[in-house]
Amino acid sequence: MDKIKMTTPLVEMDGDEMTRILWKMIKDELLLPYIDLKTEYYDLGLEYRNETNDQVTIDSANATKKYGVAVKCATITPNAARMTEYNLKEMWKSPNGTIRAMLDGTVFRAPIIVKGIEPCVKNWKKPITLARHAYGDVYKNTEMVIPGPGKVELVYTAEDGTEIRELVHNYKGAGIAQGMHNLDNSIESFARSCFNYALDTKQDLWFATKDTISKKYDHTFKDIFQEIYEKEYEDKFKAAGITYFYTLIDDAVARVMKAEGGFIWACKNYDGDVMSDMVSSAFGSLAMMTSVLVSPQGYYEYEAAHGTVQRHYYKHLKGEETSTNSVATIFAWTGALRKRGELDDNKALAEFADKLEKATVNTIESGKMTKDLALITSLKDVKVLSSEAFIKEIRKTLESL
Ligand code: NAP
Ligand code: MG
Repeated sequence: MDKIKMTTPLVEMDGDEMTRILWKMIKDELLLPYIDLKTEYYDLGLEYRNETNDQVTIDSANATKKYGVAVKCATITPNAARMTEYNLKEMWKSPNGTIRAMLDGTVFRAPIIVKGIEPCVKNWKKPITLARHAYGDVYKNTEMVIPGPGKVELVYTAEDGTEIRELVHNYKGAGIAQGMHNLDNSIESFARSCFNYALDTKQDLWFATKDTISKKYDHTFKDIFQEIYEKEYEDKFKAAGITYFYTLIDDAVARVMKAEGGFIWACKNYDGDVMSDMVSSAFGSLAMMTSVLVSPQGYYEYEAAHGTVQRHYYKHLKGEETSTNSVATIFAWTGALRKRGELDDNKALAEFADKLEKATVNTIESGKMTKDLALITSLKDVKVLSSEAFIKEIRKTLESL
């Protein structure tokens, strides 16, 4: 059989530890035999990031701007322990943070649904995609412990020196205070990424904040979304048969619990942090969660939502057998290949992505899975496979489709 040809390369960002091992297995078993794979390769493994003073991360983000689609392996975000483990020159920043800042993107996370791994919420039949704003609010706050009586004010000083003052509180005793900010630019990018992704995936978009209480801060988010929607997206949404709706965050939470899924839920930074953990654990497992960074200019970076699975990697290094779930990493590849196929009008490539996803899901539904899924499945007669055997089993299913 002829291999599928590619016209434009994918930006390939390799990573660390167990996911780096899976990365190679996936390429060798599930991609290279079927596709004439064209990638521009960037090694984001911690050793090479350290060697290049993290320039490789910046280069990979620039390549994503050039080609439009990237696929990323999980990477280590260094902490004190990693400094000694890898003998690092510096505590390099999180590659995801660097790439996100350079692409000004929004992260969309969605569960991969298979029969036999049921969500805790009975009525959730379709995936719920969470879109989290990734800039500002409490993540870039300034905090103060107020030692005793006195007043706290917010002061804005314009470039010409004029001031606007707002009293925060007149303290009669000790307390605390916090200043937060956000930027119209960033909120606009967030809104456009959400609207584009909804159109792309033909799903309704929900957005929720607490604008009744936060009449300026949260209300600005609501207003910016509404204005951009009316000016740029309303007609497109109507044509695609999807809807945008805004509601209060507490109403959204109540509705999500009663809904059957199949929509995108856009959240401010903090709400998105909390709600994405709730949604992903209710759907079963972080290893069954896809994640894509979408920039307002239409650049896409696909990855798994989990980390480098360090504990499994140390077992692997000792020569012990591992049973690490590769599904989210496989879906990062299929997401990127499908998007590349769509952009290049390469039907064969997009269809291959669909087929590989189907083979992966069918393999699990036939009772062959990794240990993490075996622990939570409702299927009987389950066969627990090693990391490698699971990928080989998917290949067998793929050949039979
Ligand atoms: P993790 O790699 O997600 O793993 C946490 C635990 O979750 C694992 O020990 C394992 O549980 C389970 N798990 C996660 N993915 C799994 C999979 N595919 N198959 C089976 N089990 C899986 O998180 P972490 O241990 O907190 O972080 C490890 C490294 O990853 C850190 O250096 C961190 O900086 C990095 N990280 C990277 C990203 C990214 O690149 N996007 C995201 C998060 C973390 P058991 O051990 O109980 O089997
Ligand atoms: Mg969190």
